[in-house]
Amino acid sequence: MSKLLTKSNYLLGLQCPKLLWVTKNDKQRLPEHDEITLKKFADGHILGELATKVFPEGQDIPDDNFMENLRNTKKLISKRIPLFEPAFMVDSLYSRADVLVPVGEDEWDIVEVKSATKVKDTNLHDVAFQKYVYEKAGLKIRKCFLMHINNQYVRDGEIEPSELFVQTEIGEKVKEFSEGLEARIREMKIVISNEEPECKISVSCDDPYGCPIKDECWSDVPEDSVFGFYRMRKRKCFKLYDSGVIRLTDVPEDIKLNDKQQIQRRLAFEGGAHVDKLQVKNFLDSLKYPVYYLDFETINPAIPKFDGMRPYQRIPFQFSLHIQDEEGGELRHVSFLAEGTSDPRSKFMQSLKDNLGDKGSILVYNQGFEKGVMNEGATAFPEFREWYDEDILFRIKDLWDVFRNFWYYDSGQKGSASIKAVLPVMSDLSYGDLEIGKGDLASLEYERVTYGDVGEEERLRVREALERYCELDTLAEVEIVKNLNKVIS
Ligand code: SF4
Repeated sequence: MSKLLTKSNYLLGLQCPKLLWVTKNDKQRLPEHDEITLKKFADGHILGELATKVFPEGQDIPDDNFMENLRNTKKLISKRIPLFEPAFMVDSLYSRADVLVPVGEDEWDIVEVKSATKVKDTNLHDVAFQKYVYEKAGLKIRKCFLMHINNQYVRDGEIEPSELFVQTEIGEKVKEFSEGLEARIREMKIVISNEEPECKISVSCDDPYGCPIKDECWSDVPEDSVFGFYRMRKRKCFKLYDSGVIRLTDVPEDIKLNDKQQIQRRLAFEGGAHVDKLQVKNFLDSLKYPVYYLDFETINPAIPKFDGMRPYQRIPFQFSLHIQDEEGGELRHVSFLAEGTSDPRSKFMQSLKDNLGDKGSILVYNQGFEKGVMNEGATAFPEFREWYDEDILFRIKDLWDVFRNFWYYDSGQKGSASIKAVLPVMSDLSYGDLEIGKGDLASLEYERVTYGDVGEEERLRVREALERYCELDTLAEVEIVKNLNKVIS
Protein backbone atom coordinates (compact mmCIF):
# COMPACT_ATOMS: atom_id res chain seq x y z
CA MET A 1 0.00 0.00 0.00
CA SER A 2 1.45 3.38 -0.94
CA LYS A 3 2.24 5.85 1.79
CA LEU A 4 -0.27 8.54 2.69
CA LEU A 5 0.48 12.11 1.60
CA THR A 6 -1.23 14.63 3.87
CA LYS A 7 -1.76 18.33 3.39
CA SER A 8 1.12 19.15 5.76
CA ASN A 9 3.34 16.59 3.98
CA TYR A 10 2.59 18.35 0.70
CA LEU A 11 3.62 21.72 2.16
CA LEU A 12 6.85 20.22 3.53
CA GLY A 13 7.51 18.62 0.14
CA LEU A 14 7.20 22.02 -1.52
CA GLN A 15 9.86 23.35 0.83
CA CYS A 16 12.26 20.43 0.37
CA PRO A 17 12.05 16.76 -0.76
CA LYS A 18 14.51 15.69 1.93
CA LEU A 19 12.44 17.32 4.68
CA LEU A 20 9.38 15.48 3.36
CA TRP A 21 11.27 12.18 3.23
CA VAL A 22 12.60 12.50 6.80
CA THR A 23 9.13 13.42 8.09
CA LYS A 24 7.62 10.33 6.48
CA ASN A 25 10.41 7.81 6.96
CA ASP A 26 12.74 8.81 9.77
CA LYS A 27 10.73 11.01 12.06
CA GLN A 28 13.06 10.53 15.01
CA ARG A 29 15.52 12.88 13.31
CA LEU A 30 13.07 15.74 13.78
CA PRO A 31 13.79 17.58 17.02
CA GLU A 32 10.98 18.02 19.55
CA HIS A 33 9.05 21.26 19.21
CA ASP A 34 10.32 24.00 21.51
CA GLU A 35 8.08 25.92 23.93
CA ILE A 36 7.62 28.81 21.50
CA THR A 37 6.39 26.51 18.71
CA LEU A 38 4.08 24.63 21.08
CA LYS A 39 2.61 27.93 22.22
CA LYS A 40 2.01 28.90 18.58
CA PHE A 41 0.14 25.61 18.05
CA ALA A 42 -1.93 26.18 21.20
CA ASP A 43 -2.77 29.75 20.14
CA GLY A 44 -3.73 28.48 16.68
CA HIS A 45 -6.06 25.97 18.27
CA ILE A 46 -7.78 28.67 20.35
CA LEU A 47 -8.21 30.84 17.26
CA GLY A 48 -9.61 27.87 15.33
CA GLU A 49 -12.20 27.30 18.08
CA LEU A 50 -13.16 30.97 18.01
CA ALA A 51 -13.52 30.88 14.23
CA THR A 52 -16.12 28.12 14.48
CA LYS A 53 -18.42 30.60 16.29
CA VAL A 54 -18.86 32.39 12.96
CA PHE A 55 -20.85 29.31 11.84
CA PRO A 56 -23.31 28.72 14.70
CA GLU A 57 -25.03 25.75 12.99
CA GLY A 58 -21.73 24.01 12.42
CA GLN A 59 -20.70 20.67 13.80
CA ASP A 60 -17.25 19.71 15.01
CA ILE A 61 -15.76 16.38 14.02
CA PRO A 62 -13.31 15.44 16.77
CA ASP A 63 -9.84 14.77 15.47
CA ASP A 64 -8.43 12.27 17.96
CA ASN A 65 -9.15 9.18 15.88
CA PHE A 66 -8.13 9.29 12.24
CA MET A 67 -10.49 6.53 10.96
CA GLU A 68 -13.34 7.69 13.19
CA ASN A 69 -13.01 11.16 11.74
CA LEU A 70 -13.24 9.82 8.17
CA ARG A 71 -16.33 7.77 9.08
CA ASN A 72 -18.02 10.72 10.83
CA THR A 73 -17.30 13.01 7.90
CA LYS A 74 -19.00 10.52 5.57
CA LYS A 75 -22.04 10.42 7.86
CA LEU A 76 -22.35 14.16 8.41
CA ILE A 77 -21.67 15.35 4.88
CA SER A 78 -25.27 14.57 3.86
CA LYS A 79 -26.63 16.81 6.63
CA ARG A 80 -25.56 19.90 4.64
CA ILE A 81 -24.38 21.87 7.67
CA PRO A 82 -21.01 23.60 8.17
CA LEU A 83 -18.45 21.01 9.24
CA PHE A 84 -15.35 21.71 11.31
CA GLU A 85 -12.32 19.54 10.65
CA PRO A 86 -13.95 17.09 8.22
CA ALA A 87 -11.42 14.66 6.72
CA PHE A 88 -11.17 13.04 3.29
CA MET A 89 -8.90 10.33 1.97
CA VAL A 90 -8.58 9.40 -1.65
CA ASP A 91 -5.76 7.81 -3.70
CA SER A 92 -3.42 7.89 -0.68
CA LEU A 93 -4.04 11.61 -0.24
CA TYR A 94 -5.44 12.88 3.04
CA SER A 95 -6.73 16.33 3.92
CA ARG A 96 -8.79 18.00 6.61
CA ALA A 97 -10.55 21.31 6.18
CA ASP A 98 -10.84 23.89 8.92
CA VAL A 99 -14.41 24.53 7.79
CA LEU A 100 -16.53 23.25 4.89
CA VAL A 101 -19.63 25.35 4.33
CA PRO A 102 -22.56 24.00 2.28
CA VAL A 103 -23.84 26.24 -0.51
CA GLY A 104 -27.13 25.69 -2.38
CA GLU A 105 -28.11 22.11 -3.19
CA ASP A 106 -24.80 20.36 -3.59
CA GLU A 107 -21.84 22.74 -3.47
CA TRP A 108 -19.31 23.57 -0.73
CA ASP A 109 -17.03 26.46 0.16
CA ILE A 110 -13.63 25.80 1.71
CA VAL A 111 -12.77 28.12 4.60
CA GLU A 112 -9.19 27.94 5.84
CA VAL A 113 -8.55 29.69 9.17
CA LYS A 114 -5.20 31.41 9.74
CA SER A 115 -3.84 33.60 12.50
CA ALA A 116 -2.00 35.93 10.11
CA THR A 117 -3.43 39.25 8.99
CA LYS A 118 -2.94 38.64 5.27
CA VAL A 119 -2.86 35.87 2.68
CA LYS A 120 0.51 34.13 2.16
CA ASP A 121 1.66 31.86 -0.68
CA THR A 122 1.83 28.86 1.63
CA ASN A 123 -1.90 29.33 2.45
CA LEU A 124 -2.69 29.22 -1.27
CA HIS A 125 -0.73 25.98 -1.73
CA ASP A 126 -2.51 24.59 1.33
CA VAL A 127 -5.99 25.34 -0.04
CA ALA A 128 -5.04 24.20 -3.56
CA PHE A 129 -4.15 20.77 -2.12
CA GLN A 130 -7.39 20.64 -0.13
CA LYS A 131 -9.52 21.54 -3.12
CA TYR A 132 -7.83 18.88 -5.22
CA VAL A 133 -8.46 16.18 -2.60
CA TYR A 134 -12.07 17.17 -1.90
CA GLU A 135 -12.93 17.29 -5.61
CA LYS A 136 -11.28 13.92 -6.12
CA ALA A 137 -13.44 12.65 -3.25
CA GLY A 138 -16.54 13.81 -5.14
CA LEU A 139 -17.32 17.22 -3.56
CA LYS A 140 -18.29 20.17 -5.72
CA ILE A 141 -16.23 23.12 -4.52
CA ARG A 142 -17.73 26.54 -5.31
CA LYS A 143 -15.37 29.05 -3.64
CA CYS A 144 -12.32 29.12 -1.42
CA PHE A 145 -11.83 31.58 1.43
CA LEU A 146 -9.04 32.42 3.78
CA MET A 147 -10.44 33.50 7.12
CA HIS A 148 -7.72 35.54 8.75
CA ILE A 149 -7.35 38.11 11.50
CA ASN A 150 -8.82 41.54 10.81
CA ASN A 151 -6.12 43.92 12.02
CA GLN A 152 -8.62 46.81 12.10
CA TYR A 153 -10.82 45.10 14.68
CA VAL A 154 -10.99 46.91 18.02
CA ARG A 155 -12.20 45.01 21.06
CA ASP A 156 -15.23 46.44 22.82
CA GLY A 157 -16.54 44.02 25.42
CA GLU A 158 -16.78 40.35 24.47
CA ILE A 159 -14.80 39.27 21.38
CA GLU A 160 -16.98 39.28 18.26
CA PRO A 161 -15.63 36.39 16.14
CA SER A 162 -17.41 37.63 13.01
CA GLU A 163 -15.54 40.94 13.34
CA LEU A 164 -12.23 39.59 14.60
CA PHE A 165 -11.93 37.48 11.45
CA VAL A 166 -12.23 38.62 7.88
CA GLN A 167 -12.85 36.28 4.95
CA THR A 168 -10.91 36.87 1.75
CA GLU A 169 -11.94 35.05 -1.39
CA ILE A 170 -8.87 33.35 -2.84
CA GLY A 171 -10.42 31.20 -5.60
CA GLU A 172 -8.52 32.81 -8.49
CA LYS A 173 -5.19 32.59 -6.69
CA VAL A 174 -5.87 28.99 -5.70
CA LYS A 175 -6.44 28.20 -9.37
CA GLU A 176 -3.02 29.66 -10.14
CA PHE A 177 -1.36 27.64 -7.35
CA SER A 178 -3.13 24.48 -8.54
CA GLU A 179 -1.23 24.51 -11.82
CA GLY A 180 1.19 21.58 -11.84
CA LEU A 181 -0.17 20.32 -8.51
CA GLU A 182 -0.94 16.84 -9.81
CA ALA A 183 2.61 16.41 -11.10
CA ARG A 184 4.05 17.68 -7.81
CA ILE A 185 1.95 15.17 -5.88
CA ARG A 186 3.19 12.37 -8.16
CA GLU A 187 6.81 13.39 -7.56
CA MET A 188 6.28 13.57 -3.81
CA LYS A 189 4.76 10.11 -3.76
CA ILE A 190 7.87 8.83 -5.51
CA VAL A 191 10.12 10.67 -3.03
CA ILE A 192 8.49 9.17 0.06
CA SER A 193 8.58 5.62 -1.32
CA ASN A 194 12.25 5.66 -2.29
CA GLU A 195 15.67 6.17 -0.72
CA GLU A 196 16.40 9.44 1.07
CA PRO A 197 17.04 12.14 -1.56
CA GLU A 198 20.20 14.25 -1.55
CA CYS A 199 19.38 17.94 -1.19
CA LYS A 200 21.73 20.89 -1.29
CA ILE A 201 21.19 23.62 1.29
CA SER A 202 19.34 26.54 -0.28
CA VAL A 203 17.06 29.50 0.43
CA SER A 204 14.35 26.91 1.08
CA CYS A 205 16.02 26.01 4.38
CA ASP A 206 14.35 29.10 5.88
CA ASP A 207 11.48 29.63 3.50
CA PRO A 208 8.60 29.61 4.27
CA TYR A 209 9.69 28.26 7.69
CA GLY A 210 12.98 27.44 9.38
CA CYS A 211 13.63 23.77 8.59
CA PRO A 212 13.67 21.60 11.72
CA ILE A 213 16.71 19.59 10.56
CA LYS A 214 18.79 22.58 9.58
CA ASP A 215 21.45 21.72 12.19
CA GLU A 216 21.99 18.41 10.43
CA CYS A 217 22.19 19.73 6.86
CA TRP A 218 24.20 22.82 7.79
CA SER A 219 26.72 21.01 9.98
CA ASP A 220 29.49 21.49 7.36
CA VAL A 221 28.93 25.23 7.04
CA PRO A 222 31.79 26.88 8.98
CA GLU A 223 31.15 29.57 11.60
CA ASP A 224 32.89 32.22 9.51
CA SER A 225 30.92 31.43 6.35
CA VAL A 226 29.57 33.93 3.82
CA PHE A 227 26.14 33.48 5.40
CA GLY A 228 27.43 35.73 8.19
CA PHE A 229 27.67 38.78 5.93
CA TYR A 230 25.65 41.60 7.52
CA ARG A 231 22.33 41.99 5.71
CA MET A 232 23.54 40.27 2.54
CA ARG A 233 20.58 38.89 0.59
CA LYS A 234 20.29 35.12 1.06
CA ARG A 235 20.34 34.52 -2.71
CA LYS A 236 23.65 36.34 -3.03
CA CYS A 237 25.11 34.32 -0.12
CA PHE A 238 24.09 31.09 -1.84
CA LYS A 239 25.50 32.28 -5.15
CA LEU A 240 28.88 32.73 -3.43
CA TYR A 241 28.63 29.51 -1.43
CA ASP A 242 27.60 27.39 -4.40
CA SER A 243 30.52 28.74 -6.41
CA GLY A 244 32.97 27.53 -3.75
CA VAL A 245 33.31 30.81 -1.85
CA ILE A 246 32.61 29.33 1.59
CA ARG A 247 34.40 31.44 4.19
CA LEU A 248 34.65 35.22 4.46
CA THR A 249 38.37 34.77 3.77
CA ASP A 250 37.54 33.06 0.46
CA VAL A 251 35.76 36.13 -0.95
CA PRO A 252 37.80 37.50 -3.91
CA GLU A 253 38.62 41.22 -4.06
CA ASP A 254 36.47 41.78 -7.13
CA ILE A 255 33.21 40.69 -5.48
CA LYS A 256 31.03 43.73 -4.82
CA LEU A 257 30.58 44.25 -1.07
CA ASN A 258 29.17 47.23 0.80
CA ASP A 259 31.29 49.09 3.39
CA LYS A 260 30.12 46.95 6.30
CA GLN A 261 30.70 43.71 4.46
CA GLN A 262 34.18 44.88 3.50
CA ILE A 263 34.93 45.48 7.17
CA GLN A 264 33.78 41.94 7.90
CA ARG A 265 35.97 40.52 5.16
CA ARG A 266 39.01 42.45 6.38
CA LEU A 267 38.48 41.36 10.00
CA ALA A 268 38.12 37.75 8.89
CA PHE A 269 41.84 37.95 7.97
CA GLU A 270 43.02 40.27 10.73
CA GLY A 271 40.70 39.34 13.63
CA GLY A 272 39.82 41.87 16.34
CA ALA A 273 37.51 44.83 16.00
CA HIS A 274 36.90 47.77 13.70
CA VAL A 275 36.33 51.06 15.55
CA ASP A 276 35.32 54.39 14.06
CA LYS A 277 36.57 56.32 17.09
CA LEU A 278 35.18 59.67 15.97
CA GLN A 279 31.64 58.34 15.51
CA VAL A 280 31.74 56.34 18.75
CA LYS A 281 33.01 59.41 20.60
CA ASN A 282 30.31 61.62 19.07
CA PHE A 283 27.70 59.13 20.17
CA LEU A 284 29.05 58.87 23.71
CA ASP A 285 29.40 62.67 23.92
CA SER A 286 25.76 63.01 22.94
CA LEU A 287 24.70 61.13 26.11
CA LYS A 288 23.60 63.53 28.81
CA TYR A 289 23.82 62.40 32.42
CA PRO A 290 21.93 61.16 34.31
CA VAL A 291 21.59 58.35 31.78
CA TYR A 292 18.54 56.10 31.99
CA TYR A 293 19.28 52.66 30.53
CA LEU A 294 15.87 51.29 29.60
CA ASP A 295 14.36 48.10 28.18
CA PHE A 296 10.78 46.79 27.77
CA GLU A 297 9.16 43.37 27.44
CA THR A 298 5.79 42.97 25.77
CA ILE A 299 3.22 40.42 24.68
CA ASN A 300 1.17 40.85 21.50
CA PRO A 301 -1.77 38.44 21.50
CA ALA A 302 -3.73 37.77 18.31
CA ILE A 303 -6.97 38.02 20.29
CA PRO A 304 -6.99 41.46 21.92
CA LYS A 305 -7.06 41.04 25.69
CA PHE A 306 -8.50 44.41 26.69
CA ASP A 307 -11.06 46.89 25.41
CA GLY A 308 -9.75 49.40 22.88
CA MET A 309 -7.02 47.04 21.67
CA ARG A 310 -6.44 45.63 18.19
CA PRO A 311 -5.17 42.15 17.30
CA TYR A 312 -1.42 41.79 17.86
CA GLN A 313 -1.21 45.17 19.58
CA ARG A 314 1.62 45.19 22.08
CA ILE A 315 0.96 45.06 25.81
CA PRO A 316 4.02 46.13 27.79
CA PHE A 317 4.24 44.14 31.00
CA GLN A 318 7.77 44.80 32.20
CA PHE A 319 10.59 47.28 32.15
CA SER A 320 14.05 47.45 33.62
CA LEU A 321 15.77 50.76 34.26
CA HIS A 322 19.32 51.41 35.41
CA ILE A 323 20.02 55.02 36.32
CA GLN A 324 23.52 56.46 36.38
CA ASP A 325 24.10 60.06 37.47
CA GLU A 326 27.58 60.40 35.99
CA GLU A 327 29.87 58.53 33.61
CA GLY A 328 31.07 55.33 35.30
CA GLY A 329 29.09 56.27 38.44
CA GLU A 330 26.97 54.16 40.80
CA LEU A 331 23.89 52.47 39.36
CA ARG A 332 20.37 52.53 40.74
CA HIS A 333 17.98 49.86 39.49
CA VAL A 334 14.23 50.25 39.14
CA SER A 335 11.91 47.68 37.62
CA PHE A 336 8.27 47.16 36.80
CA LEU A 337 6.59 43.79 36.39
CA ALA A 338 2.81 43.89 36.02
CA GLU A 339 0.76 42.23 38.76
CA GLY A 340 -2.63 40.61 38.22
CA THR A 341 -4.61 40.03 35.06
CA SER A 342 -5.99 43.51 34.38
CA ASP A 343 -4.64 45.87 31.67
CA PRO A 344 -1.13 46.86 32.86
CA ARG A 345 -0.52 49.65 30.35
CA SER A 346 -1.61 52.63 32.42
CA LYS A 347 0.41 51.53 35.47
CA PHE A 348 3.36 50.79 33.18
CA MET A 349 3.24 54.33 31.76
CA GLN A 350 2.79 55.87 35.22
CA SER A 351 5.78 53.98 36.58
CA LEU A 352 7.89 55.20 33.66
CA LYS A 353 6.73 58.75 34.32
CA ASP A 354 7.63 58.40 38.01
CA ASN A 355 11.12 57.13 37.30
CA LEU A 356 12.42 58.70 34.07
CA GLY A 357 13.11 62.11 35.65
CA ASP A 358 13.00 65.32 33.65
CA LYS A 359 16.47 65.48 32.19
CA GLY A 360 19.23 63.21 30.93
CA SER A 361 19.39 60.72 28.07
CA ILE A 362 17.17 57.66 27.90
CA LEU A 363 19.26 54.93 26.31
CA VAL A 364 17.57 52.00 24.58
CA TYR A 365 18.67 49.33 22.12
CA ASN A 366 16.55 49.62 18.95
CA GLN A 367 14.51 52.75 19.64
CA GLY A 368 11.68 51.90 17.22
CA PHE A 369 10.42 49.35 19.72
CA GLU A 370 10.50 51.45 22.91
CA LYS A 371 9.22 54.55 21.11
CA GLY A 372 6.41 52.57 19.48
CA VAL A 373 5.30 51.04 22.79
CA MET A 374 5.32 54.40 24.62
CA ASN A 375 3.56 56.14 21.75
CA GLU A 376 0.82 53.50 21.76
CA GLY A 377 0.58 53.91 25.55
CA ALA A 378 0.16 57.67 25.16
CA THR A 379 -2.54 57.14 22.52
CA ALA A 380 -4.47 54.70 24.70
CA PHE A 381 -4.04 56.89 27.81
CA PRO A 382 -3.96 60.51 26.61
CA GLU A 383 -2.98 61.78 30.08
CA PHE A 384 0.57 60.67 29.14
CA ARG A 385 0.65 62.28 25.68
CA GLU A 386 2.12 65.64 26.62
CA TRP A 387 4.70 64.03 28.94
CA TYR A 388 5.80 61.60 26.24
CA ASP A 389 5.91 64.11 23.37
CA GLU A 390 7.55 66.95 25.27
CA ASP A 391 9.64 65.40 28.06
CA ILE A 392 10.64 62.00 26.76
CA LEU A 393 10.81 61.68 22.98
CA PHE A 394 13.77 64.02 22.41
CA ARG A 395 15.80 62.36 25.22
CA ILE A 396 15.79 58.89 23.66
CA LYS A 397 19.14 57.69 22.27
CA ASP A 398 19.68 54.42 20.45
CA LEU A 399 22.76 52.37 21.38
CA TRP A 400 22.01 50.12 18.41
CA ASP A 401 23.19 52.97 16.12
CA VAL A 402 26.79 52.27 17.14
CA PHE A 403 26.60 48.66 16.00
CA ARG A 404 24.20 48.70 13.07
CA ASN A 405 26.30 51.49 11.53
CA PHE A 406 29.47 49.47 12.21
CA TRP A 407 31.06 52.33 14.17
CA TYR A 408 32.09 49.36 16.27
CA TYR A 409 32.23 45.87 14.84
CA ASP A 410 33.99 42.83 16.28
CA SER A 411 34.40 39.69 14.18
CA GLY A 412 32.98 37.78 17.17
CA GLN A 413 29.57 39.34 16.47
CA LYS A 414 29.33 37.04 13.44
CA GLY A 415 27.45 39.49 11.29
CA SER A 416 24.85 40.48 13.87
CA ALA A 417 24.32 43.85 15.57
CA SER A 418 21.83 42.54 18.12
CA ILE A 419 22.56 43.14 21.79
CA LYS A 420 22.82 39.37 22.28
CA ALA A 421 25.66 39.28 19.72
CA VAL A 422 27.37 42.43 20.97
CA LEU A 423 27.37 41.69 24.72
CA PRO A 424 29.72 38.67 24.65
CA VAL A 425 32.39 40.59 22.72
CA MET A 426 32.22 43.57 25.07
CA SER A 427 31.74 41.99 28.46
CA ASP A 428 31.78 38.82 30.55
CA LEU A 429 28.06 39.14 31.18
CA SER A 430 26.05 36.37 29.59
CA TYR A 431 22.45 35.38 29.01
CA GLY A 432 23.54 31.73 28.98
CA ASP A 433 23.16 31.17 32.73
CA LEU A 434 19.65 32.59 32.93
CA GLU A 435 16.52 30.46 33.13
CA ILE A 436 14.87 32.92 30.74
CA GLY A 437 17.41 34.15 28.20
CA LYS A 438 15.31 35.33 25.24
CA GLY A 439 12.59 37.93 24.74
CA ASP A 440 10.06 35.56 23.17
CA LEU A 441 10.46 33.11 26.03
CA ALA A 442 9.98 35.96 28.52
CA SER A 443 6.67 36.89 26.85
CA LEU A 444 5.53 33.29 26.78
CA GLU A 445 6.40 32.69 30.43
CA TYR A 446 4.76 35.92 31.56
CA GLU A 447 1.53 34.95 29.77
CA ARG A 448 1.67 31.45 31.19
CA VAL A 449 2.08 32.45 34.84
CA THR A 450 -0.23 35.47 34.60
CA TYR A 451 -3.21 34.12 32.67
CA GLY A 452 -2.67 30.36 33.01
CA ASP A 453 -3.50 27.93 35.77
CA VAL A 454 -0.21 27.97 37.66
CA GLY A 455 0.59 27.44 41.36
CA GLU A 456 1.87 30.35 43.47
CA GLU A 457 5.35 28.90 43.93
CA GLU A 458 5.85 28.44 40.18
CA ARG A 459 4.44 31.90 39.49
CA LEU A 460 6.90 33.54 41.89
CA ARG A 461 9.81 31.52 40.50
CA VAL A 462 9.06 32.60 36.92
CA ARG A 463 8.54 36.23 37.92
CA GLU A 464 11.94 36.19 39.59
CA ALA A 465 13.48 34.76 36.37
CA LEU A 466 11.74 37.51 34.37
CA GLU A 467 13.21 40.16 36.66
CA ARG A 468 16.72 38.73 36.18
CA TYR A 469 16.33 38.58 32.40
CA CYS A 470 15.09 42.13 31.89
CA GLU A 471 17.64 43.47 34.38
CA LEU A 472 20.43 41.91 32.35
CA ASP A 473 19.18 43.67 29.22
CA THR A 474 19.79 47.09 30.76
CA LEU A 475 22.93 46.00 32.59
CA ALA A 476 24.18 44.93 29.15
CA GLU A 477 23.62 48.50 27.90
CA VAL A 478 25.60 49.85 30.88
CA GLU A 479 28.48 47.44 30.21
CA ILE A 480 28.55 48.22 26.51
CA VAL A 481 28.71 51.98 27.14
CA LYS A 482 31.47 51.43 29.75
CA ASN A 483 33.51 49.40 27.27
CA LEU A 484 32.95 51.80 24.40
CA ASN A 485 34.33 54.54 26.66
CA LYS A 486 37.42 52.38 27.26
CA VAL A 487 37.80 51.68 23.55
CA ILE A 488 38.01 55.37 22.63
CA SER A 489 40.05 56.48 25.60
S1 SF4 B 1 17.89 22.04 5.99
FE1 SF4 B 1 17.51 22.62 3.90
S2 SF4 B 1 18.34 20.96 2.66
FE2 SF4 B 1 18.13 20.18 4.73
S3 SF4 B 1 16.13 19.19 4.74
FE3 SF4 B 1 15.87 21.25 5.48
S4 SF4 B 1 15.29 22.45 3.69
FE4 SF4 B 1 16.18 20.52 2.97
